[in-house]
Amino acid sequence: MKCCESYKSCKEERILLFKKNGFDIKQCKKCGYRFTNLDEVESHLASVYSDDYFFKGQSGYPNYLEEKDILIRAGKKYAKIVDRYTKPGKVLDVGSAAGFILKGFEEAGWEGQGVEPNDTMASYGRNNLNLKITTGGFEDFDSPYTFDLILLIEVIGSFYDLDSAMKNVVRQTKNDGLVLVESWDRESFVARIFGKKWHEYCPPTVIHWYSDKTLSDLFNYYGFKLLAKGRPSKRINISHGLSILEANTPKFLLKKRLIGFFARKFGKRNISYPPFDLKWYLFRKTS
Ligand SMILES: [Zn+2]
Repeated sequence: MKCCESYKSCKEERILLFKKNGFDIKQCKKCGYRFTNLDEVESHLASVYSDDYFFKGQSGYPNYLEEKDILIRAGKKYAKIVDRYTKPGKVLDVGSAAGFILKGFEEAGWEGQGVEPNDTMASYGRNNLNLKITTGGFEDFDSPYTFDLILLIEVIGSFYDLDSAMKNVVRQTKNDGLVLVESWDRESFVARIFGKKWHEYCPPTVIHWYSDKTLSDLFNYYGFKLLAKGRPSKRINISHGLSILEANTPKFLLKKRLIGFFARKFGKRNISYPPFDLKWYLFRKTS
């Protein structure tokens, strides 16, 4: 990972892989780091994580709040995994949204804190779930505490300033503390089959794309060691699944009407999402 130490000033050769949504998706020839450059960093969080992201579908959610129970259960499942390596302590959820996963951790005995750029989500968690959630981006997040565990659930691909975010992860993690990452695997067969049409190639929402290797390299570089990895048993709301399908499949006859029909009829139910392209990784801070 040395060559991408500071990826903005890195002199290694970057190959243009393809274009998506008008963004160049590039890869470092030496370490395999895959990314795109944002031209709008200032307004990035406000424009990407607007209320539309949580309520209007496409690369976001049709209605995030409907996934409450699924996500609380997902939080509890992750707490069980982490339980094999450490006792409950202080946990920080980065990009916590309304705090449902965090709530799952609290129910498993953890003391939670969240940070979330979207204020509608953060307020929901504060007001309805009685959680400590700070509104803002993680790159500038500061806390008087250090944490036994940091959660990076589907956010590691989205930091607009990866180096600042990772330095903050280092700063906020206790010595020997853990970081749980949930990340989409660009080397999965789903990602390979879909190619540039893979749903995670959705800049500017996602800016970095990892494989097992490049994710481990990144964490090793910042002083973490991989302890374990696996695949989450993820359940999603059917209307969320249909919304991903609609945004990522070519137009066909009656597509909108068919998808609309299924969304009305089954949208509120939950299904198992086959986690072919999603993984979790647990890292321990070593230095
Ligand atoms: Zn590199």
